[in-house]
Amino acid sequence: MIEFTLQERLLEVHLHPVMGGGWAVTIEDVSARRAAEADAANMARQDPLTGLPNRLLLRERLNEALSRMQREGEGCAVLLIDLDRFKPVNDTLGHPVGDALLEKVADRLRSTVRPTDTVARIGGDEFVVLQSAIRDPGDTQALVRRIVDLVGRTYMVDGHLLTIGASVGVAFAPNDGTDADKLLKNADLALYRAKLDGRGTFRFFEPEMDARMQARRQLELDMRQALARREFRLHYQPQLNLENNRLTGCEALLRWQHPQRGIVSPLDFIPLAEEIGLIVPIGEWVMRQACRDAVSWPGTYSVAVNVSPAQFKSERLVEMVMSALSTSGLPANRLEVEITEGVLLQENAKTLQTLHRLRELGVRVSMDDFGTGYSSLSYLRSFPFDKIKIDRSFVKDLDGKPEGDAIIRAIAGLGKSLGMTTIAEGVETPAQMQRIRDEGCTDVQGYLISKPVPASEIHALFAGDQTAI
Ligand code: C2E
Ligand code: MG
Ligand code: MG
Repeated sequence: MIEFTLQERLLEVHLHPVMGGGWAVTIEDVSARRAAEADAANMARQDPLTGLPNRLLLRERLNEALSRMQREGEGCAVLLIDLDRFKPVNDTLGHPVGDALLEKVADRLRSTVRPTDTVARIGGDEFVVLQSAIRDPGDTQALVRRIVDLVGRTYMVDGHLLTIGASVGVAFAPNDGTDADKLLKNADLALYRAKLDGRGTFRFFEPEMDARMQARRQLELDMRQALARREFRLHYQPQLNLENNRLTGCEALLRWQHPQRGIVSPLDFIPLAEEIGLIVPIGEWVMRQACRDAVSWPGTYSVAVNVSPAQFKSERLVEMVMSALSTSGLPANRLEVEITEGVLLQENAKTLQTLHRLRELGVRVSMDDFGTGYSSLSYLRSFPFDKIKIDRSFVKDLDGKPEGDAIIRAIAGLGKSLGMTTIAEGVETPAQMQRIRDEGCTDVQGYLISKPVPASEIHALFAGDQTAI
């Protein structure tokens, strides 16, 4: 078989022996077939939406760049870009708008790199820039700044003004890796850091990022075993009513007694538990244990349990609470659920329905850390909370800032007119307690009354309360 080109056509010539001697020659025009084959090969390496190289072609280019590095000593950089706030655009304005936005992002990225660099799209809103032949990291720094700035400028799509951002993680070859997998992994670790540091920014990979990630993974492994090993405990912190100076009940606060780490603060493991979904089984344990403990308390003391946003995403929350109440025998009106603004930020209609169902059971609902979020006031309007917990930071302000009093007074007034209890958190001194009383709060919680104590010690506190005048 011979192949040759004639007047821009690709021809294939075959020679066949013929019966009785001699040869037959067939000439076939294969131009169209070859073009189609080439197209198919290109398509398999291209993102259909933006026309950018896809993950496959990116890998090929990255491998080429790495071999050049071996031969000629040219370094390269992998910039992993993740769009911030893209999902809400896609979810609220629809996929056609999301797609058009991605095309515009692709155009902007293309416009800001050199012809020898590669821009690829490797996932929904994930892009990679492969910057080749870099002489000093300053080149990359300049490029990554340009990308963050350019992607973050406003877009006009279909009559909508849209703003998104870019978080970028950067890894250099050869310093941060000499193969494609390692470079992409390290760029991803740097990206994770950039997102934690507030998004709309970039981070260069550093070896301790890997160490931190491993520590996190270890914490995750330990936490997964902690439930089975019964390493969790509940401590209880009493709450005091200022009108009659009597305790009303306690807040349950989770403690993790780790065999090596010692006591781990919830602030150090709850965020990770929420991120990986482990807060659902842990939260269930907390709810069941708190109900079991509270049923042994005298009188009508109630127990407040913190419920995190991730637990509201699970369909089973209301059933789980009902089951915790019925197996323990605790009356629903002695249980209080504390939620933060994070709960109301998500899937509002469904969340509100869950809250209403809890209320119908007779469970009370408190708004925790009031005043620290973005729009605490509008949340008070969306649900009839039983209690507002004024965040500790406002109580601290009582000692210094003059507006501290005014804020507490305003929240107490608001609670009064809405028929909600207002409790100040983190009260540590008699002076703070006096001011809080003067400003009209109904209840207090804090070290002044008692630190959170193990379940076994709470009975003594209740006994003291019972004998108080
Ligand atoms: P939170 O619900 O606002 O709990 C109050 C926190 O303030 C507790 O910290 C408590 O020990 C601390 N505190 C109370 N009085 C004072 C005081 O007078 N001064 C100072 N400086 N601090 C005081 P803790 O126990 O470390 O818990 C921190 C956060 O972890 C809680 O904040 C809550 O958001 C979360 N958390 C604790 N237990 C659970 C749980 O079972 N489930 C969930 N989802 N979150 C929990
Ligand atoms: Mg709380
Ligand atoms: Mg709080």
